[in-house]
Amino acid sequence: MRVKIKPLECTGCALCELVCGYHWDEAFSLISSSIMLHRAEEKKNYMGLMVKTGEDLFLGRPEGAGAVKLGDLQKGGGGGASAKPILIREACDMCESAGLEPQCVAVCPQGALYVE
Ligand code: SF4
Ligand code: SF4
Repeated sequence: MRVKIKPLECTGCALCELVCGYHWDEAFSLISSSIMLHRAEEKKNYMGLMVKTGEDLFLGRPEGAGAVKLGDLQKGGGGGASAKPILIREACDMCESAGLEPQCVAVCPQGALYVE
């Protein structure tokens, strides 16, 4: 079971990133968040989400969704430069350490995140 993304449903509100940061640091900070919103500066209205686990990064972008192994990312494949900041963040624990249901899924107003 893991958090997955329906990228075309996402409006880029960043609530998921904020609530995950709160899960890890008990503060509204993004530095530890396991989920990250990326907006491309060069393409208007282009955005994507990434969820880091211990083994891989699940990417949800307009062109599709799927997992890329962390080892492949560190060798430069898959997520591109936008994936680098999330590699130093916490790996998703499905909010189990807080005894909660996945908080990013619970707060998403669009239903763009789900567990499968
Ligand atoms: S399930 Fe919890 S730890 Fe995982 S990305 Fe969502 S908020 Fe973060
Ligand atoms: S909370 Fe939902 S709509 Fe907002 S950025 Fe996250 S996935 Fe997208």
